[in-house]
Amino acid sequence: MNRKLLIGKPVSENIKKSLVEKINSLSKKNIIPKLAAILVGDNPASKIYVKSKYKTFIKFNCQSEIHHFLNDSNENDICDLISRLNKDKSTHGILLQLPLPLHLNSKRILDSIDPNKDVDGLHPMNLGRLLQGNPNFIPCTPYGCLEILRYYKINVKSKHVVVIGRSNLVGKPIAALLSQKFDIGNSTVTLCHSQTKNLSKYTKMADVIIVAVGIPAMLKSNMVKKDAVVIDVGINRVDDDSQKGYHIIGDADYSSLINKVSSITPVPGGVGPMTITMLLNNTIASAEKTII
Ligand code: NDP
Repeated sequence: MNRKLLIGKPVSENIKKSLVEKINSLSKKNIIPKLAAILVGDNPASKIYVKSKYKTFIKFNCQSEIHHFLNDSNENDICDLISRLNKDKSTHGILLQLPLPLHLNSKRILDSIDPNKDVDGLHPMNLGRLLQGNPNFIPCTPYGCLEILRYYKINVKSKHVVVIGRSNLVGKPIAALLSQKFDIGNSTVTLCHSQTKNLSKYTKMADVIIVAVGIPAMLKSNMVKKDAVVIDVGINRVDDDSQKGYHIIGDADYSSLINKVSSITPVPGGVGPMTITMLLNNTIASAEKTII
């Protein structure tokens, strides 16, 4: 196994194989896992993500529906829909695509999702359970990072992991997960953010760096020690002269790091493919819980 490039596809394919068996066995009990995705506004990236989640669910013989609200939608209307979806027995997962337009209170809307259908793992009850070491749903992107580490047999036990970025979506949950007494865990974790002074001081000490900041190529090779492992969560659009008008790069400066690190996730093709797979995984897990 090539452990230099931590490519997401084989990890994702491997997990999907076991999910197909679960979907088939649920189908014999007349249960079809169903995801309801809520999209608000016209953010082009959000539209692409929601569509791609929809397509994946359909491809795997699961159900998916997209509830699209206009940019100037009212918070109460979104909460009303969530309340209906919470009660709907055929819906196993509810996903609120972030970010929301600024006039909306994401926290209030996320909190209104039934924790047992919160397949993105962002409800306070699910984040709290994760902190307790007893997770219900693990947020999809951090979960995807763990599965990459597991598949490529990257040992994180007793290693120093530096996480850059402290969002509820990525940074905080991955830091909490890796510090747990889990099989992929038992790391010593340092959590850095925009107010961290002298970031390089921490990253240079790290055996593993997980970068999730949203700044193109911010992690440079002079910030890491030789043979470190880099997990790059970033997805940044950079304008260019191509037909598409842009290309995607990560938060790590891949071309300078590739000759120094022992392993690195490419962007695109590293963590990216894992997020939807773990969403499918969580929605299937939610559907399985409905079996009495
Ligand atoms: P947020 O904008 O919510 O959080 C960014 C974090 O980075 C914040 O904690 C911020 O600190 C920190 N930060 C910003 N600038 C610096 C800096 N110069 N030095 C150190 N820390 C800094 O982003 P997300 O966590 O939602 O996403 C991060 C990246 O991951 C994005 O590129 C996003 O597109 C990508 N992403 C990829 C996914 C995937 O499927 N692969 C899924 C989700 C996100 P502070 O808290 O102080 O502001």
